[in-house]
Amino acid sequence: MSDLARLRDYIVEMTRLVTATGTDEMRLFREGRPLLADLVSGDDWLPPPFAAPSPQTYRQYLLWCDPLERFSVLSFVWGPGQKTAIHDHTVWGMVGVLRGRERCEDYERPEPGRAMRKTGECFADPGEVTTVSPSVGDIHRVSNALADGTSISIHVYGANIGAVRRHSFDPGDGRATPFVSGYSSDVVPNLWDRSAEVRAGLR
Ligand code: FE
Repeated sequence: MSDLARLRDYIVEMTRLVTATGTDEMRLFREGRPLLADLVSGDDWLPPPFAAPSPQTYRQYLLWCDPLERFSVLSFVWGPGQKTAIHDHTVWGMVGVLRGRERCEDYERPEPGRAMRKTGECFADPGEVTTVSPSVGDIHRVSNALADGTSISIHVYGANIGAVRRHSFDPGDGRATPFVSGYSSDVVPNLWDRSAEVRAGLR
């Protein structure tokens, strides 16, 4: 059985952090990175339904959305060869790799009619955390770096990200297409059945 206490503890700490930081993104990244790094340092807690790949496309499962929509937590599950379009986020985000390996390609903000320029590329392994936002670089493409395996990353964003109006970009001419990502599942993990630990405490 997966140990959801780890995810629950992370969400408690993130709720405290976004309450304390407000719009101070530097502090949010500084203090939020180690929280996410700790969450993805162990791979024993993500329930299998939220780790399931699809042969068609990558999956984005909602694990938690703050009731005030100040942040959301998702598992992204990449099958072999799967990748996103070049896209933006419009809000802060942190990505921690849980399983496998991811490739991230950063792009400059497009100039209309010009081919988009790649500004960097990195690979992230389990336990590593990367950041995105309009202030630190918001446009990228993410792909599974494994040709023959599943990769999973845990993403936290400064909004109910599945309902945010965003853009994908054509690398050839920078043309922006609006999109709203939604989520791959209608259910979220039940973080709140703490009956076993309570019963254990009664004995
Ligand atoms: Fe992204």
